[in-house]
Formats: sequence, C-alpha cells, structure tokens
Amino acid sequence: MKILSVHAREVLDSRGNPTVEVDLKTSQGLFRAMVPSGASAGQHEALELRDKDKRYGGKGVLKAVANVNTLIAPQIKGMLCTQQREIDDIMLKLDGTENKDKLGANAILPVSMAVAKAGAAAQGMPLYSYLGSLFGSNPHVLPTPMCNLINGGKHAGQENSIQEHMLMPVKAKTFSDGIRAIAETYHQLHKLLKQKFGAMATLIGDEGGFAPGQLATTEERLNLMLEAAKNAGYDGEMSIAIDSASSEFFSDGVYTIGSKKYTGGELTDFYAALASKYPIASIEDGHAEDDWDSWVGMTKKLGSKTQVVGDDLFVTNTQRIQRGIQLGAANSVLIKLNQIGSVSETLDAIRMAQKTGWTAVVSHRSGETEDSFIADLVVATNAGQIKTGAPARSDRNAKYNQLMRIEEELCSNAKYQGMIR
Ligand code: PEP
Ligand code: MG
Repeated sequence: MKILSVHAREVLDSRGNPTVEVDLKTSQGLFRAMVPSGASAGQHEALELRDKDKRYGGKGVLKAVANVNTLIAPQIKGMLCTQQREIDDIMLKLDGTENKDKLGANAILPVSMAVAKAGAAAQGMPLYSYLGSLFGSNPHVLPTPMCNLINGGKHAGQENSIQEHMLMPVKAKTFSDGIRAIAETYHQLHKLLKQKFGAMATLIGDEGGFAPGQLATTEERLNLMLEAAKNAGYDGEMSIAIDSASSEFFSDGVYTIGSKKYTGGELTDFYAALASKYPIASIEDGHAEDDWDSWVGMTKKLGSKTQVVGDDLFVTNTQRIQRGIQLGAANSVLIKLNQIGSVSETLDAIRMAQKTGWTAVVSHRSGETEDSFIADLVVATNAGQIKTGAPARSDRNAKYNQLMRIEEELCSNAKYQGMIR
C-alpha cells in the first residue's frame, strides 16, 4: 500500500495551543495523527519547533507544518506505508541533528504515527496488533491506569508542589472495572472537595484532575483521594502513584516543596516516609533531570519496593536510558512519543527498558489531543501501565475509551495488569 500524499496543518491542542496534525493518504483512505505537547517538559527532549513570532504568543507551528509539507512529504511519497523503520530513518537522516533541531519532533512524529496507522490498515490489523508485530510481542495486556485525580505544579498554576497525585485501580478484575472505580472515586472526590471547601475547589487542571489550592501538602491531597476511594466503595483497592516533576522545583542543588527545602537525600527520605504511610506503588521524577546521584540513592533505598520512574531524566531516549541502566538510577521509564519524536525510536526505548527487567509506563502529555495512539501503543507493548489523566475531558477519555474498545475486542484473551509489583 503506497503513500499517495502527506499533508500537515496547524490545529489546537487541549490547552488551546497550536499543534501539528498530519493527514496521510493511501488507496485505503485517510490516516490522521496529532502531536501532544508538554508543559513541564524536560530539557533533554527532542525539539518542539515553535514559530516564535506574533501569532499565538509565539507558539504557532507553521514552520513544522511547512517542514512536513515541503521537506518530508516529497521524500516518502510512493513508499510503502508498512516501511515504518525505513520511513522513520529517512526522516531522521533528513533532519540530521541529535535533537531533531532542523525539522522539529512535532513535524516528524505525526508523520511517523500516521504511517503506523496506515500500515495497520494495509495489514488489515487493528493498530495495537500492528504495533505489536513491529515490536515483536503478542499484545494482550490491558494496562493499569495511573489516574491523576489531583493536579498540582505547572498543570494547576501551583509553584513548588508535587505535580500529579494518581490512583491506580490495582485490584480491579478488568480494565473497564478499573476505569469505573476511578470515575466513581473522581465523583466522590468532587463531592468531598465541594463539601469541605466550596465549589471553587472543584475546578480542574490541565490533566482533568481537581486543582484545589486549599490542599497545600502532599499528605492532605493523598488523604482526601483515599477518603474518596473509600466513599466510592473501593477501600484498600487502590495504589497511589505520584509524579513530582521535581525538575520544576529544583534550583542550585535545592528542592523546594511548599516552603520546605530539601537536599536530594532529604527528598528521598521524604518519599520513604510517604511510602511507609501510604500505599505508594510508583514515584516518577522524584529527583531532577540531571541529578543522577540522587536518583541512584533513591533507587537503592526505595527501588526494591517502589517503582522509580524516570520521565525528564530519560526523555524516552535510549542513550539516557542506557546510562540509567548502567548507574542503577531507576527501575522504570516513562514513555512519551513526542519526547523522542518517532514511533520506531519509542518502540526501541520500551524494548530497552523491558529487556533489562525495568517497567515502561506509556504516557500522555499535559497538552493533549483527541488522538488515542498511546492506548494502542500500551497494549501493543504489553507495558501494563498508562498515565493519561483524570477520567474527565475528552482528550483524556479518548485514551480510556479506546482501551475499553480494545479490551472488548480482545475478549477472553485480554489480561488486565492489576498490581504492578
Ligand atoms: C509529566 O510530567 O509526566 C507530564 C505528563 O507532564 P508534561 O506533559 O507537562 O510534561
Ligand atoms: Mg512526569
């Protein structure tokens, strides 16, 4: 099945910022992909090319759009849409830089994703099966979702605070049951917040979770989430995951949460104390993106019981993951397609993590779209964990809904991950 045309345009993401959408045509029809965008983005991510002119406060993406339409499209037109690796390699070569500085990851990625969707159709396979065939797996694991019910940090206009407070329905029998438990808990949390602090406390952040300014400490936030789970009838059935996004509150060797200051070691102790009090299964970006020593210390201290996930630390980049493996700096990698900028490189990152016995957690970005590619990706790789926000707003639920469809399709072959450790 040959690629007949590739056309990019500028559209909007969930925060009202421009992003790139690509329409790729084969004789089977039109295949569309869209790129998400981070707010607490890591310094080592591949370049997100922005126009930096008057339009959209400098955030326009017309340069990336033009790169697809004038540079990438002519190179891949006429190729087979099943040549995923070859097409990704052609785009990497055309870019020719370490960080996709020339074309922009936001130009390369939507083409790469659209090619995968067209490739799936060409093989007569659902996307998760096709990605599984590229990855070399037998896709059947439905992930345990990490659902961000209380948003903090940059996603909620709150400085110096933990960014994500997530519940994982680890005791559910199926993915759909897990999502139901999360949605029911979310509504109980809404009720509790309204009762305690009034309706303003139920306003939400970028990932659909509540963003109550009244809950200043991590403990207060976790307590209320667990109370909501209990009120919904799920006492003892949820694990907690947090994403500190700590690069955002790290400066000159010091971490600041609220008004408290911590060294790297003291911050590890803070997490250890939390983990002894709460059912914490996973801690992401507990330390900053280049504070490797603190990561090693944290993994030594907590890694046998807790999932230690590197997001800004690894940026889905196999070179950084390799370094992390050598140092023992984590035991899990967060996977974001647009941190690295192509489907093939993303699959490589997941493969590297899994080969060494680490877990991989597939993730959305805080600025999202209706594209549900990551739902298929997480099943394709049997990664077993996905982070895609609260069960609110269609940019988040697009992924949960797609996972429920996949679960239905896999039927008795579907296995829900459940517990992660
Ligand atoms: C994250 O830090 O894991 C995240 C999803 O946020 P962002 O997309 O803003 O980097
Ligand atoms: Mg993160």
